[in-house]
Amino acid sequence: HHHVRYASVEGVEAVIDTGHFHPETVLWQRLADYREAGGYRLLNACRDGEVSVERLIKAFEHAGLRGLGGAGFPLYRKWQAVRAEPGPRYAVINADEGEPGTFKDRFYLEREIHRFLEGALVGAWVVEAEALYIYLRDEYPGLHRVLHKAIDELEEAGLVAPGHIVLRRGAGAYICGEESALIESLEGKPGKPRHRPPFVAQRGLFDRPTLVNNVETVYWVPRIWEQGAEWFAGQGRHGRRGLRSFSVSGRVKRPGVHLAPAGITLRELLEEYCGGMAEGHRLLGYLPGGASGGILPASKANIPLDFDTLQEHGCFIGSAAIVVLSDQDDLRAVASNLLAFFADESCGQCTPCRVGSEKMLTLLERDEWDVPQLERLARVMMDASICGLGQAAPNPVISLLRDFRGELAGRNLIAKG
Ligand code: SF4
Repeated sequence: HHHVRYASVEGVEAVIDTGHFHPETVLWQRLADYREAGGYRLLNACRDGEVSVERLIKAFEHAGLRGLGGAGFPLYRKWQAVRAEPGPRYAVINADEGEPGTFKDRFYLEREIHRFLEGALVGAWVVEAEALYIYLRDEYPGLHRVLHKAIDELEEAGLVAPGHIVLRRGAGAYICGEESALIESLEGKPGKPRHRPPFVAQRGLFDRPTLVNNVETVYWVPRIWEQGAEWFAGQGRHGRRGLRSFSVSGRVKRPGVHLAPAGITLRELLEEYCGGMAEGHRLLGYLPGGASGGILPASKANIPLDFDTLQEHGCFIGSAAIVVLSDQDDLRAVASNLLAFFADESCGQCTPCRVGSEKMLTLLERDEWDVPQLERLARVMMDASICGLGQAAPNPVISLLRDFRGELAGRNLIAKG
């Protein structure tokens, strides 16, 4: 729908040569090209008083754009909540994309860096932020260069005041994708989640009201404005609204980021977007929301994939990272791998998560699983952990015990019958 050209980033090739990340050409959308295609028109219209905050809020309420980092909170309500607090305020972009299986934010940053930046700047304008912080996953070094260049372009063009956008690198901790841990990290402290309330909209960065948004959410701001709230709201399937960027991996013919209607089913996503299952593989189940969102069986490949719709099945979509499993995957290995990940990434602040995830990993390695003990431990972790990491860590195990009894019995992990 619109014209994008790329230029390579000087200097990035040198970084690639040192082997810090896998060799690929790093490209970025240039400011001049984006502006030629109508870019930064919305930001300028906001600043010139042609578009009011009220009009923006109305449009995005109508579009139904929700936070695409995982929580699904409506964007317009977040804007309102932060604006309702006294200034000074801050805006923060969570670009710490760390949910296993999720790579959509990277996809958009690599292709349309300026559209993302425009969306981030519009959000900062809405809440009259003193500064806009971008917290970027450290495992995206090429994108660090790209962002740096793009911000330079904006400052040179006079579109943002020098220093208004602050680019920060994470340090490889999954937990820093949790917004309050991210803010702690931005403040120079260890990335440990805070208790809520207060919410970051009230007391976030430097104790000030803070707007925290995911990369993809703000990416959609100029795009929806351009194409119309009506257009976006009109997408969707099975009664859902909008579009979702599914990061699909696993046993499919065409993995990758697939932009598809919200509410599409896995079956439809597989057939229409992924070219079906990989040759010789039969669908066994799938992770609808990365490591955290649980595991669904093949018999539930026909439920709408969206926020809220998976709840009654004990799962959630989060950042829409779909990992497709086949009959050739080992369920014990899947569960152990996920629990090992959570045990590694636990910040250690609370016992149910720190000790519980380690303990669960040990229990999974037994020849035969002790189901009552696994269930009791899962309950404690869900009920008593401070943040989403510890609360979600038992999800893979609970899912398997709920929906994969036959499979587990077939592999002698649990008693038959
Ligand atoms: Fe840290 Fe885990 Fe507790 Fe979250 S649940 S605060 S990651 S120990």
